[in-house]
Amino acid sequence: MILTTHALVGAAVGKYISNPIVLTAILIPLHYTLDIFRHGEYLGKKSTFKNTWWKVALDLFAGLFIIILATSFQDSNKAVFISILTGAFISMLPDLLTVLYWKLNFKFLEKIYRFHQFVHCRFKDGCPERAWTLRNAVNDIVFSSIAIILLLL
Ligand SMILES: [Zn+2]
Repeated sequence: MILTTHALVGAAVGKYISNPIVLTAILIPLHYTLDIFRHGEYLGKKSTFKNTWWKVALDLFAGLFIIILATSFQDSNKAVFISILTGAFISMLPDLLTVLYWKLNFKFLEKIYRFHQFVHCRFKDGCPERAWTLRNAVNDIVFSSIAIILLLL
């Protein structure tokens, strides 16, 4: 899934659960669970930092923008907002670790990287089910929509 989807799901859970340990225990497994579903990816083996960084930045910005927009409709207090942002961050963490391994080759992250690859294994790298198409974005749109509804409730 894209970062926006992970951020929104994490934010939605963070709205209702504020304990960061409980959040981590829920959101890390949830990240890998979401990644099992079919989804398109805008980066692949051929991606370089130069042609990818702005996509990642845009993805991060879009998630944050929707979170701020959705929470601005209600008078939630600062503690809830911090919990929402914490949830969004924890939810995206597995992808951040993957990028750190992929680009900076931190050896201790190899197991996490392999596991992340493993949950994607239903669809091999470069196969049509992982292409960046609208059809492959359906699950991202569904999960993001559910998360936005939970944020707005
Ligand atoms: Zn992931």
